[in-house]
Amino acid sequence: MTEEERQQLKETIIGEIAGLKVEIGRLQEEVKPVAPDRAIGRLTRMEAINAQKMSEANLRKARTRLQALEKTLPRLEEDDEFGICTRCERPIPLKRLMLMPQSRMCVRCAGR
Ligand SMILES: [Zn+2]
Repeated sequence: MTEEERQQLKETIIGEIAGLKVEIGRLQEEVKPVAPDRAIGRLTRMEAINAQKMSEANLRKARTRLQALEKTLPRLEEDDEFGICTRCERPIPLKRLMLMPQSRMCVRCAGR
C-alpha cells in the first residue's frame, strides 16, 4: 500500500466515523420507547413499533461498523503489514479495504 493510499483510506475512515456518530445519535433518539399515549403524527402505534425495530437493527449495524473502523484506524498508522493479506501475503485491493476496513484477508482467501 502506498503512502498516498494509506492517507486516502485514513481520510475515508475518519469521515465515515464522523458520519456514523451522527447516525448513531439520530438512531438512539428513534429507538426510545414509544409512549402509548403519545401522538405520533400519522403513524399508528404498530407502525411506530415496527419503525423502531428497524432503527434498532440499524443502530446495531452502525455500532458494529463504528467499532471496526475505530479499531482499524490505529492499525492503519502503526501496522506495517496493514493491507497485506494474512494468508497469501498479497496486497488487499484498496477497494475492498474501503468497503471493509477491518478485513485482514483478500476476497479470495476470505472466501475459502
Ligand atoms: Zn489472500
